[in-house]
Amino acid sequence: MVRPEPSEATAMDELFARNRAWAERMRARDPEFFTRLAGQQAPRLLWIGCADSRVAANQLLDLDPGTVFVHRNIANLVIHTDINMLSVLQFAVEILRVPQVVVCGHYGCGGVRAAMADRQLGLIDNWLRHIKDVYDQHAAELDGIADPGRREDRLVELNVLHQTLHVARSTVVQNAWADGRRLEIRAWVYGLEDGLLRDLGYRVRGPEEIGAIYRMMGGGVT
Ligand SMILES: [Zn+2]
Repeated sequence: MVRPEPSEATAMDELFARNRAWAERMRARDPEFFTRLAGQQAPRLLWIGCADSRVAANQLLDLDPGTVFVHRNIANLVIHTDINMLSVLQFAVEILRVPQVVVCGHYGCGGVRAAMADRQLGLIDNWLRHIKDVYDQHAAELDGIADPGRREDRLVELNVLHQTLHVARSTVVQNAWADGRRLEIRAWVYGLEDGLLRDLGYRVRGPEEIGAIYRMMGGGVT
């Protein structure tokens, strides 16, 4: 077994000490909090956001554990072959029966910035390629924005809009709608500089909004 360096051990001790203090504060506020949560979770939304350490879903919504089901990856992408994301989506929609799915991007996203550049970064280039595809679809608009910062901000927004539509096009969401469930997919962007969320005003509420080629009937393959 490798013994941790003294400084590393101290840093880890501090994390555990912070955890104990937090659990104590939560219990002081609500003695039944953890017992209740251990029994069941009832999140009110599924959050699909960026893995960036500055965009912590519960913290910026000021919500306790148990309220938000979370999936995060670099640049909040919804890729239809990503079994990790799809499993989270299925569990949230079919088992937890969340009424809302939010895709939340953020300004100043390193993933989006890297996708706008032409330097190879390794494996991640294959992931960021999905953002380049979004850029390519909106090249006329984006190339027309002279200010690089504004162009990047706009790509952040367009990326969120595309990923929101990808959620809606999933069979998981289409099946929920076919069952008569109310399920809304929303697009938000978070500002690192002011800590505020913006609603992009785009929401998908039914199969008529996802494009005919993506609409599928249930019932499996025959
Ligand atoms: Zn990001």
